[in-house]
Amino acid sequence: MNKTLRKAVIAGNWKMNMTPSQTTALINEMKPLVADADCEVVLCVPFVDIAAAIEAAKGSNIKIGAENVHFKASGAFTGEISADMLKETGVEYVVVGHSERRQYFGETDQTVNLRSLAAIKAGLKPIICVGETLEQRELGYTETLLKYQTKMALTNVSAEELKNVVIAYEPVWAIGTGVTATADQADEGNGYVRAAIAEAYGADVAETVTIQYGGSMNAANAAELVSKVNVDGGLIGGASLKAADFSIIVKAASEQK
Ligand code: PEP
Repeated sequence: MNKTLRKAVIAGNWKMNMTPSQTTALINEMKPLVADADCEVVLCVPFVDIAAAIEAAKGSNIKIGAENVHFKASGAFTGEISADMLKETGVEYVVVGHSERRQYFGETDQTVNLRSLAAIKAGLKPIICVGETLEQRELGYTETLLKYQTKMALTNVSAEELKNVVIAYEPVWAIGTGVTATADQADEGNGYVRAAIAEAYGADVAETVTIQYGGSMNAANAAELVSKVNVDGGLIGGASLKAADFSIIVKAASEQK
């Protein structure tokens, strides 16, 4: 295990929060606080906030991402946004398969795979979310499920393309609930994801893939979570809407080497 083989990524997921003007204000507040980061800093924002976010982040170390992408290139898909459309806005990252999309919008392992492939083809970096529900954990299926979701999401993704993919292990029971996985649970879950990648691509490749933890990560618990060998940063919901809290998480990841 060698953490220096991969880059830590701290990514905010704003969910359905912030108007364009609020976006400008929050990023302006964040910029000086994260300017010294020694990790990748990303903010994934609602589609309508992308232009404001790109403009506000210009000249800084903050990268902008979207929160979803459709898998078709174009056509009769009212309300959807394609990977090429996103690419042209200047976003670098896109969240794919967040559990809220799986839960409320019918996202499946197959569509997560198709969206990931579309993002990669357009030159975007997908942050692919996987994670078990509390029921699945209690039934003892966490490892099986995480490996299955990971391999399904990466179907037809080459080892070369994997260099631009981030996986986020997000236990569903920890998202937006205030209940965080323990650092050991996070490390174990991320380890299952890494093992699945090793089974599919080999151990050397798996060592290079950035695997985040997500689920109620905050200013108080981030340092312990990111200290774990398999935890390469985090996907942050609620705490990414507060400049001070988010910058503390970025600092915690920056100090991990
Ligand atoms: C998320 O939205 O991916 C997330 C982890 O949310 P929160 O940090 O609020 O639990």
